Amino acid sequence: MLIRLAVLFLFILAAAASASWLAAQPGHVQVEWLGWRLEMRTSLAVALVIIFALGMVFFDRLYRLIKSLPGWLGSSVQKRRDVAGHKALTLGLMAVSAGEPAEAKRQAARARRLLDAPQLTNLLAAQASALAGDHQAARRYFTSLIAEDDSAFLGHIGMMRLALDDDAPDAALASARKALALRPKSTLAAAHIVQLEAARHNWQAALPALDVLASQRRSGQSGSDEDGNNIQSQRTALLYMDACEHAQNADRQGAQKVLIRIIKDVPGFLPAVLMLSDIYLETGANRKAVKVLEKAFGIIPHIEVANRLKPAWQVNDGGFIAKLMTLIPADEDIADAARCIIANQALDVGLDGEAAGQITAIPESRRDADAWQVAARIAQAHGHQDDANAALVAASKAPRPQGWQCGACRSLHDDWQSHCPDCDSFAQLVWQRPDRVTPLFDEPV
Ligand SMILES: [Zn+2]
Repeated sequence: MLIRLAVLFLFILAAAASASWLAAQPGHVQVEWLGWRLEMRTSLAVALVIIFALGMVFFDRLYRLIKSLPGWLGSSVQKRRDVAGHKALTLGLMAVSAGEPAEAKRQAARARRLLDAPQLTNLLAAQASALAGDHQAARRYFTSLIAEDDSAFLGHIGMMRLALDDDAPDAALASARKALALRPKSTLAAAHIVQLEAARHNWQAALPALDVLASQRRSGQSGSDEDGNNIQSQRTALLYMDACEHAQNADRQGAQKVLIRIIKDVPGFLPAVLMLSDIYLETGANRKAVKVLEKAFGIIPHIEVANRLKPAWQVNDGGFIAKLMTLIPADEDIADAARCIIANQALDVGLDGEAAGQITAIPESRRDADAWQVAARIAQAHGHQDDANAALVAASKAPRPQGWQCGACRSLHDDWQSHCPDCDSFAQLVWQRPDRVTPLFDEPV
């Protein structure tokens, strides 16, 4: 500021000095033009020329300023519009996350009017519409995403979700397939393809998508242990259903090949164990049947496995019970279940002593409803009606025995099925001691 003042002061000083010097100069200027004659001192003429030049500069500056004024005004208006537009966008997104469709729609319309960012404002509009249950607008938006190369994948995923909401599995599958074609590693698209193909009973078609999930899991891109188990049980279910189709088409060899593949990975998958051992028994391959069944009995002791071991071993009743006893595994819970089955089998052939031995080997604290029912059978066989009644009462209060339980809805089922009959989840039935269900009867009050 001080420097400026000093400069101005020096400038005025110089101007005054020049003016007085000019005024002191002698001489006149004379102009004759169209009969007019103008006469003035030379110093005055020089001063006039300088004033004229300064005037020109001043007006030029003024003209430029006036010309730039609308642009300056416009840019500040644009700035204010941007700020208001972004605010509307933010409020709209907040409304979507809070689940308020009317406010979201209002802010979306405002943002669209104020901002020149169609991808953002259309997204908000589509979300607001979807929230209000208007899928038409959302569909228009996702279609616009599909048209652009870098957003096409998201467009297909959005269309897939809309189709799932609309309960249109064919359209959902088509969109999921297009999404996976664009991003061959997309676990989201692959997981939906597995579910949708399985629902259509296209077991084979679901397997490549399941491979995508498995390879992504292996490369550490996604997934917990639970996901790993889920992939395994889905693969097992798909392969088993495929084997069933082979069997239905009288292609026993095809079925056998697939079943061997299942058993190799999951030797305790009961439906495959039973089907494969049946094929072996029918074709006289008893030793192969024995191998599959013996291994399975140690993992999932099931009456159907025992029923097949008897013809496979080709032994007498006593030998059968003795051989079964050699298969009792170390794991307590599985061993108890195996003992129950052996006890029942022993009772069936009149070997009451062996039956009683198996049941007394299970401590009362660990007995489930099955174990108590066998105990009642034994007591009855010995004519001890009171003991039998007491055992039946205990059975009603004991935990339920192992069975097929849906991992999604916890419902219990007699047989394994690819889709849960209660909630339609795919590959969720697991052989286990039921959890989160009450005993057969509540405690008497
Ligand atoms: Zn279920």
